[in-house]
Amino acid sequence: MRNGREAPKYTLSEPAHDVFFVEGPASNWIILRRGYAFTLIDGGYPGDLPLVLASIADAGLHPADASAVLITHAHIDHAGTAGHFAAAHNIPVLCSVPELPYLLGEDRDQVSVRSIMGKAWQPSVLHWAWHVLASGGASRVAVLTAAAWADDDELAALPGSPVAVPTPGHTPGHTAFYLPAAHAAVTGDALVTGHAISRRRGPQMLDAMFHSDEAGARRSLAQLGKLDASLLLPGHGPAVRTAMGPAVGTVRARAAVPKRRFVVPGPAGGFAEPTYGRNVAAGEDR
Ligand SMILES: [Zn+2]
Repeated sequence: MRNGREAPKYTLSEPAHDVFFVEGPASNWIILRRGYAFTLIDGGYPGDLPLVLASIADAGLHPADASAVLITHAHIDHAGTAGHFAAAHNIPVLCSVPELPYLLGEDRDQVSVRSIMGKAWQPSVLHWAWHVLASGGASRVAVLTAAAWADDDELAALPGSPVAVPTPGHTPGHTAFYLPAAHAAVTGDALVTGHAISRRRGPQMLDAMFHSDEAGARRSLAQLGKLDASLLLPGHGPAVRTAMGPAVGTVRARAAVPKRRFVVPGPAGGFAEPTYGRNVAAGEDR
């Protein structure tokens, strides 16, 4: 929980009515409010639970009133607190059919420690890897009560009326969500606007090492480009007001340019102030 001495470790904004976007220390989550009820999309690392609960309180809500926790994909930095909601409040934790084995913990699809350490000579990667481990990132996702949503109607009935947009590639069952009333696209890790180990700002793909099928992830961009949204709510990085067609165009243009392999480390202390999103000075882009 927040206290008087420490700065809050998340930023909550309401970029559309009843849509709360929370930038956590290393990943984002989203609260869709309808009266006292709400839908939570993703929920940070296991160690982010106090922040997730505090952000729910900031939105004037109580964790027991969640209608469902929707998971874009079963990586630990997005699904890390879902088990708490299931265990403590019997709240349904839902994902797509192809993602379910990973959310149940029956299978594992996550960037391996080996591939992380292969890049750990980059200072920013080392900072990131340290944060990952300190936040429970090496633990296994296993939400034993998780289920796949039955159909579009089940999702439409939830607060925020999310529409599933299958975007496989980052993981086999990765799903983005379209929010019709908010004209917003919740893109998870299929399209981000920053990441701790990226020095770019704005719409981009995660580093190739994070995708289980990079070519598939690129193909899935087309699904996002079609969405009639003017607000991009990514899994990493800040919210961006943009139409999705141009956002995807930016991503594709960047993908055609070779990336710099050297990335700058964060400020002393590393992850307290992530090197992405709002803390990156303008002009630091490539
Ligand atoms: Zn991921």
